Amino acid sequence: MTDVTGPLEYDVVVLGAGPVGENVADRVRAAGLSAAVVESELIGGECSYWACMPSKALLRPAIARAEARRVPGLSGAVQGPLDTKAVLGNRDAFTSHWKDDGQVAWLDGIGAAIHRGHGRLEGPRRVSVTGPDGEQLLLTARHAVAVCTGSRAVLPGLPGLADAAPWTSREATSAQRVPGRLVVVGGGVVGVEMATAWRALGAEVTLLVRGEGLLPRMEPFAGELVARSLTEAGATVRTGVSVTAVERDGSTGPVTVVLGDGERVEADEVLFATGRAPRTDDLGLETVGLEPGSWLTVDDSCRVEGSDWLYAVGDVNHRALLTHQGKYQARVAGASIAARARGVKALGTAPWTAHAATADHRAVTQVVFTEPEIAAVGLTLAEAEAAGHRVRAVDYDLSGVAGAALYADGYRGHARMIVDLDAETLLGVTFAGPAVGEMLHSATVAVVGEVPIDRLWHAVPAYPTISEVWLRLLETYRG
Ligand SMILES: Cc1cc2nc3c(=O)[nH]c(=O)nc-3n(C[C@H](O)[C@H](O)[C@H](O)COP(=O)(O)OP(=O)(O)OC[C@H]3O[C@@H](n4cnc5c(N)ncnc54)[C@H](O)[C@@H]3O)c2cc1C
Repeated sequence: MTDVTGPLEYDVVVLGAGPVGENVADRVRAAGLSAAVVESELIGGECSYWACMPSKALLRPAIARAEARRVPGLSGAVQGPLDTKAVLGNRDAFTSHWKDDGQVAWLDGIGAAIHRGHGRLEGPRRVSVTGPDGEQLLLTARHAVAVCTGSRAVLPGLPGLADAAPWTSREATSAQRVPGRLVVVGGGVVGVEMATAWRALGAEVTLLVRGEGLLPRMEPFAGELVARSLTEAGATVRTGVSVTAVERDGSTGPVTVVLGDGERVEADEVLFATGRAPRTDDLGLETVGLEPGSWLTVDDSCRVEGSDWLYAVGDVNHRALLTHQGKYQARVAGASIAARARGVKALGTAPWTAHAATADHRAVTQVVFTEPEIAAVGLTLAEAEAAGHRVRAVDYDLSGVAGAALYADGYRGHARMIVDLDAETLLGVTFAGPAVGEMLHSATVAVVGEVPIDRLWHAVPAYPTISEVWLRLLETYRG
């Protein structure tokens, strides 16, 4: 017979202790509410162990070496291979060797209770936790349950794939050896970042993309520049190809990827970077009238539509699958839960209130850590036009900026800002080029602050930096 303990009562129960769940707990604790966090794997979530942290630790030496190779006087010193053992070791250190003691200590420090195990909703405000040994604990939430269970990689239903031990983002970020040949299926962010990292570590990489270009959700020049660099780095980039089957004898040995025209591509590993699905399939959603396995639709306070106690924050609500956007939502959700617990009925509807995750709609930021880097905020030209704005795209070739030419010999990059012609403010900005990631926040402030173009003219970029592209974009706009 299974032991059932509880119910234990908290003000707030958080399901999932990824970066988002941790931040919801932090915010409600700071507001004086009690909080319990339920986690079935590692405290810290996907981001800490199989996503942001390990991927960026793998990419940093790849990008630094590529940039150094274009600095006269330095390039000769960096022609050799990366030190694979050191790169993987550094990656392992950034994941704390897949141990979560540090994050447990942090949650302890803010006074949140931790319950290890698989959490499920058992009707309104009730959560059951099945622990590692099958023991059951019941929790109830006085004010709110926040679902922060994130997302997982999706594998397409191709013949042979399930038995071919394919890599997903988890294996691609945690592998302990460099495959001789790696096929990457998918040209989105995960696909291009992992192709960049493993190519730099010496793998023979073939990137297979169904569409016409890489990074399809970004400005087209972003994917074009990344494809060109990957090709120059020795990867094979093939667009307009579909994978129809995968064959492998056992989980080791070569794997064969079969393409639409019957061509067969052999490799040592195949990574499928073909999208994400919500981790809501075994969450008891049916006990509260929701569809298991679905993304959870929320309002701007991150409360599930039609509920007065259920919140869904981070990847699981499908607004923007990025850690920083999820943590922003967590701050909004935490503030909203706390305000409603104090009896505040209407949270206010001003566009930039602390209780509404409005940046999700108009100012999502993202950096793709490839060579070159891509940094984007807000709307692309295609998105702005589709949304009915009267816009003009203003473009500038970054190689014409003195700071860029100094940064690297033959610096290649491009910038685009999308001007709202009615408001004369910016709706979006995309930079592509080495080291542009650190420039993104200037664009974010301009977009979120709705800074008039005339005022931006007085934000003088320092000479000679890459950020002088701001001046060039404004000059181009004014003509
Ligand atoms: C390869 C890769 C690289 C990425 N790089 C970046 C990057 O550089 N920058 C960036 O901003 N974003 C990046 N992302 C996206 C980022 O990882 C996610 O947006 C982020 O992890 C979402 O956080 P979350 O807390 O919503 O979910 P998660 O991090 O997925 O955490 C959810 C947690 O819930 C737990 N859980 C799930 N179900 C249950 C249950 N029933 N009971 C108990 N616990 C449960 C899980 O075990 C997990 O710990 C990357 C993603 C990938 C795949």
